[in-house]
Amino acid sequence: WQTLSERVNRVAPSATLAVDSKAKAMKAAGVDVIGFGAGEPNFPTPDYIVEAAVKACRDPKNHRYTPTPGLPALRQAIADKTLRDSGYAVTPDRVVVTNGGKQAVYEALQTLIDPGDEVIIPAPYWTTYPEAVRLAGGKPVFVFAGSEQGFEPTVEAIEAVRTPRTKAIVVNSPSNPTGAVWSRETIRAIGRWAVEHHVWVLSDEIYEHLSYDGMRTVYIGAEVPEVRDQLIVLNGVAKTYAMTGWRVGWIVAPTPVAEAVTKLQGHLSSNVADVSQQAALAAVEGSLDAVDMMRAAFDGRRRAIVAALNEVTGVTCSAPHGAFYAFPEVTALLGRPLGPDGSVVRTSSELASLLLDQAHVAAVPGEAFGAPGYLRFSYALADDDLAEGVRRFKQWVG
Ligand code: PLP
Repeated sequence: WQTLSERVNRVAPSATLAVDSKAKAMKAAGVDVIGFGAGEPNFPTPDYIVEAAVKACRDPKNHRYTPTPGLPALRQAIADKTLRDSGYAVTPDRVVVTNGGKQAVYEALQTLIDPGDEVIIPAPYWTTYPEAVRLAGGKPVFVFAGSEQGFEPTVEAIEAVRTPRTKAIVVNSPSNPTGAVWSRETIRAIGRWAVEHHVWVLSDEIYEHLSYDGMRTVYIGAEVPEVRDQLIVLNGVAKTYAMTGWRVGWIVAPTPVAEAVTKLQGHLSSNVADVSQQAALAAVEGSLDAVDMMRAAFDGRRRAIVAALNEVTGVTCSAPHGAFYAFPEVTALLGRPLGPDGSVVRTSSELASLLLDQAHVAAVPGEAFGAPGYLRFSYALADDDLAEGVRRFKQWVG
């Protein structure tokens, strides 16, 4: 609409949220939809975390504004957790608590990017990165690595798109949407390349605790210590502790960046809800036992969904080693008759739409992640739903 700003008109809506809300609306209308759309663990938030929030709610001192960058105890706990998990020490003044990992991404880009600056985004990518770059006036530059490369880019491909305007690169391993866990060699090479060329690294580590088959998340700040002065780690409690709706994320960055992010946040949203911060404190300070339990459940579902998807004619799914997404290739389904009425689709986007309408199965098309020809299935849903959803997909393909 012409009176809206150019800035907002340029932004594409979140495709993942769109699929999820269409699926939820169909469910509300009484349709039995199986939703593989949302990246949302189906577990309840662990009890001790909920109890910490209940206790915090009852204490009126927690009904006020907290410092903008977060409760001092939570910033300290995030610094301690960084040492525990990533293996290097940071001071709490480098930490800013944000309204979810999504706000951390947005604020980091608003803080670093000037109009015309380029940000290298390995594709397939999480759908928010390019839009957040555009909202900052920057230009996303994509480097694609498909399933044949294990969805892992080479530093040579990254170097090939570097220009004098390259300001930052996004690293997201384990990855949404592919579930790829990048190798030590790749992470190390990207870290060294960034140091050599003075490029900021935005390392989104939100799936750090969800990896399988003995694969471990490799932390770029640990692998390449010299990168820490140009590293912004983005993280949050959503995926690790089944806390998507609590909206707590954070940034760990060099102190001047953390201060600039705090200044921005002071005009954007102030502090994160105190009660949510107290819950996050219990989560981050606590053990990883609940996470181990959830990871074991995700691992079982991962094996089940990969096996089941590979039995669907025209679908090829490599085993992801992290996060909770399967990202099968579906190009063999394009251009051939599908479903009870033999409909023909040309794109994975049309395929996802038809699958939802006819088989009542919600998956997100690869187009949302810069990867046409793929579909993303989140397997963070109940075992029975998972089996039933893929059974419907298989039957629908015929
Ligand atoms: N980063 C990645 C790669 C994600 O997949 C998500 C959520 O889907 C987020 C960040 C943001 O998480 P939240 O804003 O819920 O903390």
